[in-house]
Amino acid sequence: MRRKLAAGNWKMNGTGDSLAEIRALAAAHAAPTCEVLICPPATLIARMAASERGPIMVGGQDCHQNASGAHTGDISAGMLAHAGASHVILGHSERRADHGEDNALVRAKAEAALGAGLVAVICVGETEAERDAGQTLSVIGTQLAGSVPDEATASNTVIAYEPVWAIGTGRTPTLDQIAEVHDFMRGQLAERFDDAEGFRLLYGGSVKPSNAAEIFAVSNVDGALVGGASLKAADFGGIITAL
Ligand code: PEP
Repeated sequence: MRRKLAAGNWKMNGTGDSLAEIRALAAAHAAPTCEVLICPPATLIARMAASERGPIMVGGQDCHQNASGAHTGDISAGMLAHAGASHVILGHSERRADHGEDNALVRAKAEAALGAGLVAVICVGETEAERDAGQTLSVIGTQLAGSVPDEATASNTVIAYEPVWAIGTGRTPTLDQIAEVHDFMRGQLAERFDDAEGFRLLYGGSVKPSNAAEIFAVSNVDGALVGGASLKAADFGGIITAL
């Protein structure tokens, strides 16, 4: 039985005042039935880790593939772990687009994350043009094959399916489209990993309290990666409750 996961990605949002949302979320969901993760900006990881956060886990939004060195502005997986993070999001489409991250780099970062004891939340997803061209499954298959390291297991890796065109747009795929991709991903993982049945597969892209329950009822959807609706405790709480 896979434990569901509600993961929040604050992206480049939040300062110290935002930790009030974490305290409010922890107070309202002291014993959630699912795992709850918030990935704040790097500047808040240590503060969030030290704050009253109840069962809420802390994650990073990216890490460098190297352990240390001359990489100005970057953060290593070990540094994230030392700051109190247990997870790290890797290969988010915004990083793939803004920073030119390809599958090989995402895989190297995931290897670094696993080596540092972090859980890697590896993102995949097609663009609208790729979906319109009927390439969705081949794109997802290529991203999974290229981004997920051989060391991945059900306990150290989570996969997030995030159609690029659904992120921050208010648009979502149909439930059948989500099921098709998640079933496909489960099958792809089964070709490489003995414990493929145990991997959590998150859906991400415009999840909100009003659509969470129907998305979570879809086959092979084990939770969500949430952007905008993770910033406010009330909204994210509604998604946690739907799980
Ligand atoms: C995300 O950035 O991972 C995401 C899914 O964003 P949103 O929920 O805002 O669409």
